[in-house]
Amino acid sequence: MDERTTQRKCCVRRIVIATARARVLAVIGVVVLLSVSATGGQTVITPPKNRYTPAQDVELGRKAAAEVEQQLPMLRDEDVTSLLASIGRRLVESVPQELEHPGFHYSFQVVNVREINAFALPGGPMFVNRGMIEAARTEGEVAGVMAHELSHVALRHGTAQATKATKYEIGTLLGAVVGAIIGGNVGGAVAQGTQFGLGTAFLRFSREFERQADLLGSHIMAAAGYDPLEMASMFKTIETQGGSGGPQWLSDHPNPGDRYASITREAKLLKVQNPVRDTRAFTRAQAGLRRMTPAPTTKEATRQAAGRGSAPAPDGRLEPGRVAPPSSTYTAYTEGDVFRVSVPSNWRELPGGNAVTFAPDGAYDSADGQRTFTHGVEIGVARNETRDLRTATDELIASLARGNPNLSRSSGYDRTKIGGRQGVHTVLSNVSDATGQHERIAVFTVLLRDASLFYALGVAPRDRFPVYEATFRRVVGSIEIMN
Ligand SMILES: [Zn+2]
Repeated sequence: MDERTTQRKCCVRRIVIATARARVLAVIGVVVLLSVSATGGQTVITPPKNRYTPAQDVELGRKAAAEVEQQLPMLRDEDVTSLLASIGRRLVESVPQELEHPGFHYSFQVVNVREINAFALPGGPMFVNRGMIEAARTEGEVAGVMAHELSHVALRHGTAQATKATKYEIGTLLGAVVGAIIGGNVGGAVAQGTQFGLGTAFLRFSREFERQADLLGSHIMAAAGYDPLEMASMFKTIETQGGSGGPQWLSDHPNPGDRYASITREAKLLKVQNPVRDTRAFTRAQAGLRRMTPAPTTKEATRQAAGRGSAPAPDGRLEPGRVAPPSSTYTAYTEGDVFRVSVPSNWRELPGGNAVTFAPDGAYDSADGQRTFTHGVEIGVARNETRDLRTATDELIASLARGNPNLSRSSGYDRTKIGGRQGVHTVLSNVSDATGQHERIAVFTVLLRDASLFYALGVAPRDRFPVYEATFRRVVGSIEIMN
């Protein structure tokens, strides 16, 4: 294979993620009726509707976990990992039989970062931050958070939310999940304009799902020999230690309203079996953590991870005066199972939340968790409800304008082909946030089969735009849409 045809799989590597936050595959408020038919005892919990298969949960979780392991530092400490594994094993064995999925593989890893957070991915991979273990007062409190996360997995809440919230195929979901985990703010085209729907759709569990996870978590805890009240007390600890902005865990797992009261009520209905008495492992693990160098913040950790790559880290590289012209050879990229594209070989791939940017050195800056670029192309998918290409494109431009007050549109739409489908094209004028200079933005859009909007935004300084416009056309002409 020569350079021109080098295929690269969707890669979310070496990106700088300033606001990296671990998040579970989650979503917007979807009304799901929680079955509350108490059969003389504990609340009966019915898994919500789900259009995905358990095997898709597994696939999604496995791929997302691989990205997480690349992006975040895993703590490989024998005492801590074996503690987590033993709590995890007890809890998994206590998942009610009707919620067991044969293909699911539960795994438990410790992320060596300071924030009090934890997240679990569809199909079973769970990540608990070191900060969470350090903040817990007892083993039962750690078990409480894990039981809650495990419940989201067993009830398949991630893909259940996706069922209601999007029409996306599993490949698109992966991008959204990974994007949500490694940093919600990346993917802002010309600034924060394109915070389009899918990413934000995956940031939070609905309150209904939270209630289910609290209740099922209580059942699992009791069956595993833990006091469900310790889950409630850990939530309180999280609340008090969150600082001014509140901890990420709570915004991903919003309080369904009467969280403590309902856990307490449920706990009264539950009998704790085989209570855990020996918690020396917890004490030892926590003491070991205290002897270690304090954990970095997620932001620091992901910066370090970016610096470890073989190529230089892509942050702080905005040098608009020194941008090389687009190379005449092209490199092909495959982005998940969403699309393929070829771009000049001297452009880097800078994946973001829901979009990917291709830009030359010196033309982009991701240092503040926000991607700004002065030359290059951003390609992504935006949700829209209109099913009308021009209206959807108007909305995309309006969202760009929210982050770029000087954005204006000088022409109407003309027709163009993207991936063999009928699309539209227009050019916008803007003043770059990064340089204060005038720039042009070529907009190319097409509707996907699920009516979401596929877009490519080519950005270049006004005086260089005639040269770059030809490149943008060639890049857009190479796009193959796969679904
Ligand atoms: Zn939750």
